[in-house]
Amino acid sequence: MQPDAKEAPYPPQRPLEWGQINFLHTTDTHGWLEGHIKEENYGADWGDFVSFVAAMKQKAEDLKVDLLLIDTGDLHDGAGLSDATDPNGQLSNPIFQNIDYDLLTIGNHELYVTEIAYEHFNQFAKVYGDRYLTSNVQILNPANGQFEYIGKQYRYFTTERGMRIMSFGFIFDFDKNSNVSKVIKADDVIKEQWFQDALNLTPVIDLFVIIGHNAARTTDKTSTMGKYFRAIREKYPYTPIQVFGGHTHQRDFVVYDNKATALESGRYCETLGWLSITGFNEYQVEPPKTVPLASRPAKRVEGADRDSSLPESDSPSSLLYSRRYLDWNRLTFAYHADGSQDTDFDTQQGKAVTAMITGVRNQLNLTKVLGCAPRTYCISCKPFGEEGSIYKVLEEAMAKVVVNEERKDKPRIIFTNTGNIRFDLVQGPFTYDDSFIVSPFENTFKYIKDVPWDEAKTVLATMNAGPYQKRSLDLSTRDFHFTPLTFVDQEECLDPPVIHDSLRKRGEPNSGLVRRSDYDPTPGYVTKDDFGEDGDDTPHVNITTYELPNDVQANASFPTDGSDPDKVDVIYVSFIEKYVIDALNKVGGKYSSKDSSLYLPESFKSNQVMPKFAELEWQANINNCPVGKGVGYDKRKA
Ligand SMILES: [Zn+2]
Ligand SMILES: [Zn+2]
Repeated sequence: MQPDAKEAPYPPQRPLEWGQINFLHTTDTHGWLEGHIKEENYGADWGDFVSFVAAMKQKAEDLKVDLLLIDTGDLHDGAGLSDATDPNGQLSNPIFQNIDYDLLTIGNHELYVTEIAYEHFNQFAKVYGDRYLTSNVQILNPANGQFEYIGKQYRYFTTERGMRIMSFGFIFDFDKNSNVSKVIKADDVIKEQWFQDALNLTPVIDLFVIIGHNAARTTDKTSTMGKYFRAIREKYPYTPIQVFGGHTHQRDFVVYDNKATALESGRYCETLGWLSITGFNEYQVEPPKTVPLASRPAKRVEGADRDSSLPESDSPSSLLYSRRYLDWNRLTFAYHADGSQDTDFDTQQGKAVTAMITGVRNQLNLTKVLGCAPRTYCISCKPFGEEGSIYKVLEEAMAKVVVNEERKDKPRIIFTNTGNIRFDLVQGPFTYDDSFIVSPFENTFKYIKDVPWDEAKTVLATMNAGPYQKRSLDLSTRDFHFTPLTFVDQEECLDPPVIHDSLRKRGEPNSGLVRRSDYDPTPGYVTKDDFGEDGDDTPHVNITTYELPNDVQANASFPTDGSDPDKVDVIYVSFIEKYVIDALNKVGGKYSSKDSSLYLPESFKSNQVMPKFAELEWQANINNCPVGKGVGYDKRKA
């Protein structure tokens, strides 16, 4: 753990269930390798994970079963450790590489920026060799002018215990990559000769392991997993298929058919996914005897929807499964590592990685305290605009910080899209690191001056009634500046988790599991998936999430007598210019982008609003700043 991180209040309540083959799955780590410094549920760092993996490997060895490590991409764009370097990931990727993954694949956040894509081609892919699968991602090799796969297209291998696995790594049909890379669409991949050849390579396959930066739930609008599953099932109607997904930042487990399931393991080093399978009849490895065994056939609980477009394997299955979502903290790791022959949980390597992270944090100045956030401000755990909603404080911050000295007395309204905030701000020191965590986006502030109030006052309502503000990308500018965060598909990878309406209802009462706990459960993940409600390793009470509008408006320098101004400066983050102008023109304005200009110098970016505000307004208790427990706590009675 990092010296300033906090320990979880209570451990998991039951041991893991093992199988003949077992998996630990990370995804969408987005640079959070230091752990969540201010959130006690997720306080472990990558060094703790390194030690945990060593203990689990030893345990698998003792039990004489396989344990494979999987990662499904998006390694940066989310926290200072990865994002405070240029290009980002420069110092965090070597830390990440301390885990000896068996299979990994690439995420969309490795493909926005040319230099980062090449880093993965030239360095990362070399570190992991044939275990780095990018079955549908190519890059232009400058050495020969040809498009080549960044990693490998497939891996056929035999595990330590003798299971023969065929694996692929498929990103969703992503199309906002920089122009040096190529993402081949699922419909085309499945027709390609190499894919058909790989399927024909050998009939001796005990298990397919399909990994992908690709939603596990095939009904998710971005997912192409169903297409790959169909293509493989067509040729192998009876072979078990295990899928590991990513990108939607959720905990999820999906039953495809009676021999195929899919796990997705959350985001941001909050979750470590566990999956085990036993009951392979023709496979010689004995199921472990001294630990609980995976015990559930691949069968959905009542009420879980089936994707009817998927084929079903029609022979009986002897396979039994377990899945678990582990909270990313040291108590979790120590609890599950216990019982291995390795009595010392921390390994030398784990300790070294922890020290390395501390070193990089200091080197990059990430621990520098800019202010003391007096409470927790969240994106969606509070109704929009209520006290504790980050957008309420963002409005205050924009009014205070987005000021052009020459026009500071003119009434002004300032707009930003809600997607400009990336993560909750937890009570406690607001560090340089938090400025990346809370809002990494680098938009400039533009404006149209002296807009009649009658026109300007309608803009917010018009924009909020419109469609979600999806950015159309300008490929030419993206490669000149290392500002990927301006361009990320905010709605897909950065928003609060999508809620499956069929399974998850807002603000639901606690599950039975929570009531059985010996501890007073804290707020955290309460997951419902195709196996029901018992997937979360540590029981929590649910954090209710609330809907967000598209945009936020701040007002400043309005007449003090409460009357309406005649004219206002309409200021906005550059990302939403088109929407602001369209909204003005809807009520009779005749504006175009020619009428706009920079309101603040180009060097002032939207990600500087909160840090500047912290420096101005949150100086109280800066040297003795109390840290809150995390998101969702303050609604509970003491
Ligand atoms: Zn992601
Ligand atoms: Zn992603």
